[in-house]
Amino acid sequence: MPRITAKELKNRRQEFLEEAGRTFDQMLGSDGQNGLVTFAERENRACELGDALTCRLLEEHLSAEELADPGHMVACPICGQPVPCESPEEVELEKRRVETRRGAVEYERAARRCKPCRRVFFPRG
Ligand SMILES: [Zn+2]
Repeated sequence: MPRITAKELKNRRQEFLEEAGRTFDQMLGSDGQNGLVTFAERENRACELGDALTCRLLEEHLSAEELADPGHMVACPICGQPVPCESPEEVELEKRRVETRRGAVEYERAARRCKPCRRVFFPRG
């Protein structure tokens, strides 16, 4: 389930395009070369910039998912029972950080507490 509106998606797409434009500028500069001479220099810069955009894409996708901030009911991953949350809008989001093949990615998830299991968990996503 998406938790993002079409309008917000459009705004985020625009922001991504602007970042892609800045990425292009960091590669090409104002003279088309930007001080990069050897093939290795060009390859390194292109890979670094591409990796940053890859991470950004992944973060966008993770943050647009409903599980980033689920509603009133999610299932406990241990006992499978529904874990109610009376006011999900007041649950604080916690930052999570994952190392991917292209670098570190940060995203937020809302924690839930299963009383019978006495465990705090983050809905999967
Ligand atoms: Zn449980």
